[in-house]
Amino acid sequence: MAVNIDNFSTAAQSGSDYVLAPLPYADNALEPVISANTLSFHYGKHHKAYVDNLNKLVAGTDLAGQSLEQIIAATAGQADKAGIFNNAAQVWNHMFYWHSLSPNGGGEPSGALREKIAAAFGSVDNCKKELTTAALTQFGSGWAWLVLDGDKVAIAKTANADSPLTKNLRPLLTIDVWEHAYYLDFQNRRPDYVGTVLDKLVNWEFAEANLG
Ligand code: MN
Repeated sequence: MAVNIDNFSTAAQSGSDYVLAPLPYADNALEPVISANTLSFHYGKHHKAYVDNLNKLVAGTDLAGQSLEQIIAATAGQADKAGIFNNAAQVWNHMFYWHSLSPNGGGEPSGALREKIAAAFGSVDNCKKELTTAALTQFGSGWAWLVLDGDKVAIAKTANADSPLTKNLRPLLTIDVWEHAYYLDFQNRRPDYVGTVLDKLVNWEFAEANLG
């Protein structure tokens, strides 16, 4: 069975503990676009820290053992739960991001996703342009997303740890635009990072599997 959004809960948990789900490829598999150095920090330090923080923050609370999606829904928008929300959402967002990339990515979507993209944007190129615009206009840290809004494919952007899951949107793929995602490889050149990811790494098959 293809990995998709519907099997993320089980991948993220072992009993009541949240785990760092394995990368779907070797840490050098995305080179030369994203280096093993970037992945070793981004996955091994940043993503791992969100998992470790989440375990500490929910220990002994009634959120312990709930799925990431349940925690995200239960804490979204609550100032006194911001730490839990931010770490749970970042664990989920990063798992989703790793699967949104592939060593064999790039190219063009096919099948039902291609049809939905054509209906919403006119062409794959226009869809990529709008996704790029979202990624480049997200001020500061955040995420650019291809989502399903009802039955239509759409673009979204979220700040910091925020997730389309809290806005009734179904994520199809994402690009992490926090500086830690690209700084070692592209320095401040976010447009080069986003453009190269869309040309070489974006995993359209994963996005199509997420249509459900
Ligand atoms: Mn990140």
